[in-house]
Amino acid sequence: MPITTRVSLLRETPGAFETATVELDDPRQGELTVKLAATGLCHSDDHIAKGDLNAAHLPLVGGHEGAGVVTAVGPNTPGFEVGDHVVFSFLAACGVCEFCARGMSNLCMNGATIMSGGRPDEPGSYRMSENGTSVGQAMGISTFSEYTTASVNSAVKIDKDIPLEVAALLGCAVPTGWGAAVNSANIKPADVVIVMGIGGIGSAAVQGAKYAGARAVVAVDPVEFKREKAMEFGATHTFADIAEATEFVKSITNGQGADATIITVGVLQPEHVAQGMASIRKAGTVVVPGLGKSTNI
Ligand SMILES: [Zn+2]
Ligand SMILES: [Zn+2]
Repeated sequence: MPITTRVSLLRETPGAFETATVELDDPRQGELTVKLAATGLCHSDDHIAKGDLNAAHLPLVGGHEGAGVVTAVGPNTPGFEVGDHVVFSFLAACGVCEFCARGMSNLCMNGATIMSGGRPDEPGSYRMSENGTSVGQAMGISTFSEYTTASVNSAVKIDKDIPLEVAALLGCAVPTGWGAAVNSANIKPADVVIVMGIGGIGSAAVQGAKYAGARAVVAVDPVEFKREKAMEFGATHTFADIAEATEFVKSITNGQGADATIITVGVLQPEHVAQGMASIRKAGTVVVPGLGKSTNI
């Protein structure tokens, strides 16, 4: 039986999210319906609302980092049962495509369609509607919902003793930031690292850099509160702007520069990339998780 659910809906871009009630379909094979317990608000949601990122289908329910409890399982869908706790991944991973088979599920072929608003493996097929009009789901999961129906490829089962409001952050912010430091920048013990922008993703990058053994984790943010928080997350030094941070890093690296700079600013501009490139040593690494207007970057 399809149900109705309250959602946070974007009708136009640039635009703003508004509360609405939509119809939610039952899960089909390979799908789950989940009652969300918690969702994060990612800057990417704001990028979509402002039109920096193109939503292929409007109206669109936002949200792509959430966790909740399974309330229905599609037919012939092994591996999940009602009552399971899950965290959603903003990137569906099919487990069988070339890139999943290579161990790079972050590059799963389903990733190409996450902005479609439809099923990751079937763009144009929707599970939400409003008065007969199909409604898109951000990244196929739309966690700004009381209930959502999503592919099992977007859901990861977790232990029930993990608080769902904590698990929700593992849907995007933590793996994006942590992974930028530990995997993409491949930080090694004794490295010197700059993190530009200490939001949800930047603070996770700081933690990843500390975990990987960096000897200096230099956090850059104009907001004092964020610089204070960065120190709690593992930063060793903080600066309000990248020029000061670069000067400091050169002073502790024999003039060479950072081993890696991770750019996690709110709205990426071309000059941020130039600043990042100017801050690293020869053969250093710049990682750019930050997003900006697609026509500007
Ligand atoms: Zn996100
Ligand atoms: Zn895949």
